[in-house]
Amino acid sequence: MSLTDDLYRDIILEHFKSPHHHGKLEPADITVEGVNPFCGDEVTLTARVSNGIMTEIQALAKGCSISQASTSMLTDAVQGQTLADAQRLAAQFKQVMLEGGPAAWPEALEDLEALEGVKKYPVRIKCAIMAWNALLEGIQDYTKETAVTGGAKPSAISHQPSASASTGLTETQVREALQAVEDPELHWSIIELGLVYGVQIGGGLVTVDVTLTSPGCPYGPMLLAQIHHAVKELPGVQQVKVNVVWTPPWDPRTMATDDVKMELGIG
Ligand code: ZN
Repeated sequence: MSLTDDLYRDIILEHFKSPHHHGKLEPADITVEGVNPFCGDEVTLTARVSNGIMTEIQALAKGCSISQASTSMLTDAVQGQTLADAQRLAAQFKQVMLEGGPAAWPEALEDLEALEGVKKYPVRIKCAIMAWNALLEGIQDYTKETAVTGGAKPSAISHQPSASASTGLTETQVREALQAVEDPELHWSIIELGLVYGVQIGGGLVTVDVTLTSPGCPYGPMLLAQIHHAVKELPGVQQVKVNVVWTPPWDPRTMATDDVKMELGIG
C-alpha cells in the first residue's frame, strides 16, 4: 500500500467515524433517500434552499465506510453552493468515478480525491456515488416542484392509446419476453427486479416504460438495446419504443419479487 493509499484511507475513515453535517433537517426543502442494494447502503439527505442556494444540508447515512464517507464529503462540498453548482459538482464527481479521468478538485473539496481510489473496485463505485445520485434526484424534484405553476409541465410519457391490438399480442407475452433481459450488475431479470413499470400495446407498436437501478447506471444503453431486441422479436411487433422513467424511483424493497429481496437481504 503506497503512502497515498494510506492517506486516502485515513481521509475516508475520518469521514466515516465522524460524518460531517450529520442529522436530519426538519422542515426541509429537499428530502431525498438513496439506496445501494449491493451492500445495503442507505442515505437520507435533507437540505434547505433559499434563493437557489443550498444554505444547509444534513445527511444520515447507513452502510459501508465508502458510502458514508462519500456522503459526508458531499455535504461539505455542496453546502453554501447554488443548486446549479451542486448539480455540476455531482455530475463531475460521477463522471470521474464512472468514466475515470483525473479531476482537479478545488482545494476545499480535495477530500473527494480520496474516493478516486475506489475506482479500482468497480463494485464499490455504487457505494461512492449513491449519495450523489440522491442529491441529483432531490435537486431535480425540488426544481420541478418550484417551477412556476402553469408553466411548461414536464411532458408526461406519451402513452399510446391501447388501440385494439390487431396482433393479438398480450402484455403477459411481452413481460415473458422481458424475463430474459437481465440487469448486467445484479444478474436478475428486469421483470423480477421490478424495473419494468409499464407495457402498452397499440397495433404493431409496443411501448415499454422501464427504469434503471440508478441514474448513473453505466449499462443503461446496453440494457435498453436488449429490451428493444427482446420485444421486437415477438410476433406482430413492428415498432418498439423504450421509455426510461425515473418516477417513482426504483426501490427494490417494494418493487422487486420476494426472491430478489431475499437475495439482496432486504426481504
Ligand atoms: Zn457500500
